[in-house]
Amino acid sequence: TFPFAQRLDNVETSAIRELFKLLGKPGIISFAGGFPDSAMFDLHGITEAVNKALIDEPGAALQYGATEGYQPLREQLAAFMQSKGAQVAADQLIVTTGSQQALDLLGKCLVDPGSKAIVEGPTFLATIQCFRLYGAELISAPIDGEGVQVDQLERLITEHKPKFVYLIPTFGNPSGAMLSLERRKRVLELAVKYQTLIIEDDPYGDLYFDAPPPPSLLALSAQVPGSRDWLVHCGSLSKVLSPGLRVGWMVAPPELLAKATMCKQFSDAHTSTFAQATAAQYLAGGHMPGTLARVRAVYGERAKTMGDALRNDLGAEIDFVQPQGGLFVWARLTGAGGKIKDGNEFAKRAIAEGVAFVPGAPFYCANPDLSTLRLSFATADEGKIREGIGRLAKALG
Ligand code: PMP
Repeated sequence: TFPFAQRLDNVETSAIRELFKLLGKPGIISFAGGFPDSAMFDLHGITEAVNKALIDEPGAALQYGATEGYQPLREQLAAFMQSKGAQVAADQLIVTTGSQQALDLLGKCLVDPGSKAIVEGPTFLATIQCFRLYGAELISAPIDGEGVQVDQLERLITEHKPKFVYLIPTFGNPSGAMLSLERRKRVLELAVKYQTLIIEDDPYGDLYFDAPPPPSLLALSAQVPGSRDWLVHCGSLSKVLSPGLRVGWMVAPPELLAKATMCKQFSDAHTSTFAQATAAQYLAGGHMPGTLARVRAVYGERAKTMGDALRNDLGAEIDFVQPQGGLFVWARLTGAGGKIKDGNEFAKRAIAEGVAFVPGAPFYCANPDLSTLRLSFATADEGKIREGIGRLAKALG
């Protein structure tokens, strides 16, 4: 075998990838993906943006560019953040190749073998794997329907003195949970009190259904003196516009942003200038508000349909908080009536019935709750959602 680096010993291929191999079965209804619906992509707006990028600025769109990002896009992204209440200047952010790259750069810049970091239990699987690749020792902070439990978080910070805390405060993947306003303020106060860096990963905050969520930690940091110095914010166009563009961004204190930029230079030199010029034209063209309204309405209906179907068809056998945004329902098998309680076993039976979801255990860095599962309502239409949940009820027996 090859002389692989020792760091690879810390990571396994994701259980989710293994499951995805089974999804090719004909007729299967999948709630397993973490993707937006490709039918929602704004082809017209993106085509217009591509054409404008090539006609107005062919040199910039096709040439090498600055590692920090294409300046007109940095300006557009700063304005986008400002429209959501966060005071961000263009030079306070760098463009990244998806927010996934921001997470990788943070791992590179901050994690030594054995460094401690706190993440939510459950959290985004690729974050667990990415930080572990750099040797992080991850500590799991419990969540409930209102996001991370801040008393527990404070206890874990004092006990472990982590290098940083990674949170997805708004419609988390996989939890769908929305951190309450009061807890957001407390998280920022903890950052200052314990001089601990908080990473806010926020690819879903724009996907709210009825009412907007509380302001991001980044926006709220203006109200908690000193907290901005301890805050990193990662954003992405993936879930609202197109993941294939691979356009994300990171706002961070200047010293950290400089180190991340240096690492990015060795990683991909810069995010595709073609994608950046396209995104910049898209935002400048004023397409975003309409696109957001459209995706919110469609995903909101699907979330409602899935919630209603779960309550109707599975009743007391399943427990979940109705999501107010994002792409996911996070649910727990209650075992009521002596029914199956194990998410892995249930996933196998569900595939046999022609429906797929992801069991929840891999989303925990420690002490997994084996009764959990993640269902995405994003890519199936309402008829398919009802049919798929009906199949789930059958699989439960
Ligand atoms: N963070 C979270 C919480 C996610 O769910 C995802 C995508 N699944 C990402 C980051 C990465 O997204 P992207 O690289 O496409 O911006």
